[in-house]
Amino acid sequence: MEHTNVNQILADKFNIDKRILTIADKIEAKVQSQFKEIERIAEYNQLKVLSAMQQSNLSEYHFEGSTGYGYNDAGRDKLEEIYALTFKTEDTLVRPQVISGTHALSLALFGNLKYGDELLSPVGSPYDTLLGVIGINPAKGSLKEHGIVYKQVDLLPDECFDYDNIEKALSPKTKMVTIQRSKGYSLRKSLTIAEIKELIGFIRGIAPNVIIMVDNCYGEFVNIIEPAEIGADLIVGSLIKNPGGGLAPVGGYIAGKKEYVEGAAVRLSSPGIGKKAGPSLGITSRFLQGLFLAPNVVAGSIKGAVFAAELFEELGYEVFPNNRRERSDIVQAIAFKSPEKVISFCQGIQAAAPVDSYVIPEPWDMPGYDCQVIMAAGAFISGSSIELSADAPIREPYAVFYQGALTWSHAKCGVLVALNKMVKDGLCNLPN
Ligand SMILES: *Cc1c(COP(=O)(O)O)cnc(C)c1O
Repeated sequence: MEHTNVNQILADKFNIDKRILTIADKIEAKVQSQFKEIERIAEYNQLKVLSAMQQSNLSEYHFEGSTGYGYNDAGRDKLEEIYALTFKTEDTLVRPQVISGTHALSLALFGNLKYGDELLSPVGSPYDTLLGVIGINPAKGSLKEHGIVYKQVDLLPDECFDYDNIEKALSPKTKMVTIQRSKGYSLRKSLTIAEIKELIGFIRGIAPNVIIMVDNCYGEFVNIIEPAEIGADLIVGSLIKNPGGGLAPVGGYIAGKKEYVEGAAVRLSSPGIGKKAGPSLGITSRFLQGLFLAPNVVAGSIKGAVFAAELFEELGYEVFPNNRRERSDIVQAIAFKSPEKVISFCQGIQAAAPVDSYVIPEPWDMPGYDCQVIMAAGAFISGSSIELSADAPIREPYAVFYQGALTWSHAKCGVLVALNKMVKDGLCNLPN
């Protein structure tokens, strides 16, 4: 089919400026070889998930679910087995009672750290919501209040690991090391699997028994290898991001060594109960179907990120990452350097949503963040950022973090509507 048909509906129904459509055609042609590579990774991961489902004899009766205590919930246990096979870990905890990525990370931390233990981040500041969990920012019930000491070694100015200071920071009391794969709300690079592998190797050489956790949020299925395959003891993420495939209505996962997953499980339920209770409430099929779709949903999202990077770089903005870098997550940061541009872009993303497209998002005081945050997500699942979404803390350097889309077609539309909004608002000039 001719591009002109697509451009016709983009112009007629979405009021996209003809000049933007011309640039978009050029950009789309330019990124085709990257799209091929993204499709290859998706194909591999699709087969990985399929074979995990077959190997574990997934059956229709697993979709039935339980209520109340949820003892002997075969579907829930099957889901956890399939996650373990997919992520190549001894065990997993995959539950609707885990309400977010922050909650999952909090369970993994509190479940495995005790008074007097030290926690080290060798990759700089963790994600905003963890500042309160750890107690870097004062918060009731933080790790700090529970006597756990936090140490941090920043990346060097050239974004390499600061091995000297990591070595100095590791002490006999260091119980756990936390490595955040994705950049979060910063403009640092997202760490590739190869980089994380090198870092884990270095840490193991000094502290062989330390628990190494990777915050894998936004990283699942971006590569064919997941962090547990390169030595992480625990990997943690949210089901309303990549692995939920857009269908999981809530949830988080913790995957890794049995002992450490159990640590998180007894924290979620209670000591003595651990993984044995927790009703699946009849939503197991959504978790499983979402996992099944996730590799291709992630691929659509990454295509959107690659397209946005190429487009906004062409228009003169600095993008993180640019397309010359290997991607390790689905997030595309664009440094607009102006709050008005950030807000206009996010409002454009909202306007391209299937749900609440008429709503105009504004910055607000979101729980867990220490500045105002704007979030655009007209999503089927509230707050889901594997669906087309953009968010930004309203602070220097005024960068927007764009991610997600259940399909590449929607990602492209979203990026174009957002750019169109910026142009209409007089905030972005197009080349003649
Ligand atoms: C999203 C995210 C989190 C927190 O997840 P929520 O589900 O928003 O609580 C933690 N770390 C990283 C890197 C993230 O991207």
